[in-house]
Amino acid sequence: MIYDFIVVGSGSGGGSLSYYLNKSGAKVLLIEAGKFYRKDTFPKTEAETSAHLYWGGGIEFGKDGKMGFLRTRMVGGSSIVYQCLMDRFDDIAFNDWRAESGVEWFNNQEMDKHYTQVENDMVLHTFQREEMRRNGILFADACDKLGYKWGFLRRGQSNCGAEKGNDCVGCLGGCFRDSKQSSLVAFIQKAEKEGLEIVAETEIHKVEPNSNTCKIHGLQNGKQVSFEGKKVILAGGAFGTTRMMTMSGFKSKLPALGKNFASHPQFMWLGFQNEPVDAHKGMFQSVASKDPSFRAQGFKLENVFASPISIGMLMNVTGAKHQEYMKKYRYMQCIEVAVRDENIGEIQCDNKGKLTIVKPLSDQDKTRRDKGLQAIENIMMTAGANEIYKSNFYFGLHLMGGCVMGTDASKSVVNPEFQVHGEKTLYIADSSIYPNAPGINPGLTIKSLGHRLATQLLK
Ligand SMILES: Cc1cc2nc3c(=O)[nH]c(=O)nc-3n(C[C@H](O)[C@H](O)[C@H](O)COP(=O)(O)OP(=O)(O)OC[C@H]3O[C@@H](n4cnc5c(N)ncnc54)[C@H](O)[C@@H]3O)c2cc1C
Repeated sequence: MIYDFIVVGSGSGGGSLSYYLNKSGAKVLLIEAGKFYRKDTFPKTEAETSAHLYWGGGIEFGKDGKMGFLRTRMVGGSSIVYQCLMDRFDDIAFNDWRAESGVEWFNNQEMDKHYTQVENDMVLHTFQREEMRRNGILFADACDKLGYKWGFLRRGQSNCGAEKGNDCVGCLGGCFRDSKQSSLVAFIQKAEKEGLEIVAETEIHKVEPNSNTCKIHGLQNGKQVSFEGKKVILAGGAFGTTRMMTMSGFKSKLPALGKNFASHPQFMWLGFQNEPVDAHKGMFQSVASKDPSFRAQGFKLENVFASPISIGMLMNVTGAKHQEYMKKYRYMQCIEVAVRDENIGEIQCDNKGKLTIVKPLSDQDKTRRDKGLQAIENIMMTAGANEIYKSNFYFGLHLMGGCVMGTDASKSVVNPEFQVHGEKTLYIADSSIYPNAPGINPGLTIKSLGHRLATQLLK
């Protein structure tokens, strides 16, 4: 059987793309390396979540052992664990993408129709004052006193049940109510009902494009399997797609493969308050910085929180001191800074598929981080913290680049039509094509690029 379209990887990019392709009546196959969980089968404990939902069984580290990466593996990809904050890019982000890539359609006018369609296909909710929890109130009130601009976040959610005592920290391991608008909820389950074929637990290792079709090969339950499509679209995420492309021998043809990796490094600090904050309760994240001067300086702040295990891992202390801090879990105010980093990182892959991530922080990244951390300290002190835990552990949650889009085949991997340079039947549509870090939550744009490619392919 030759499919019209095969999409490899079912995260933010692959989920929306396969939904829009499938709607046309085309014969579409969606392939995913991880398992197919539903709302009632997601792992129930944090340890199981870590072991079953992440490549490498949890946090993976870069070559220097400093920065932790979270990369998921299941139907829905990272959208199963993401916070689902859905932001459009601003002109700053698109102007920088255009300058780096030479791609003229990277602008808000061209992207508006794609953003609008995806927004219409998701349930989006902008938080309001009465929904703010104390962690958000402390953040917003201190920002007001300091003259920092802030605003409410927009999140994909339909019915979280916070008023009934439901805590959204839990949905970072998969939403048990199908409220959070993951790719699974917003796109894949709907497309499944309309006939989308989904093959899970199948890891693709090799792609073989020719002029009329593209063959792909991988492993399913330890056995070699192959599929053939008129067009194959890789959407395995920055690491996954770069790995498939490298294992398929493209590095010699496309020197930019694996280059330009960026990740919005995120640092979380904890401010201890005299009264309980209960930051883990209800919809735990509602506000973020909206200060133009922060944007110009290359960072943003969000009021965040996490489960006890994740918070415990931020601390570089042991024994009694660790216990003393963790006993004050209910008193923690938490703010993170996400740095708009330079894309000097590299995703390296050997011929057996072993990845090595080289991701140093540049001097500019460090300056941006320090300015953001200073703003966090100002907010926490103004909010009345009696102590601040200044964690130096940092994560990359937004994995971008490795197969960047551009007009110049010596500096990019896909052309402005999402096609791998020099290939007619092989495309890429995920965060690996991002030319540089936008400094804005990437998920909505990944889904909208999926809509753009679907529209183009269906023409
Ligand atoms: C904890 C967390 C919170 C986040 N919060 C937000 C947020 O609030 N807002 C936002 O915009 N972004 C957020 N992000 C980032 C966002 O989730 C990602 O940027 C986005 O989902 C990436 O989409 P993608 O399609 O590129 O890759 P992914 O969503 O990672 O999907 C790739 C899929 O491909 C599969 N795959 C890889 N290799 C293969 C292979 N060889 N064969 C078959 N399948 C393969 C993977 O298993 C995976 O399921 C968050 C991320 C994390 C980890």
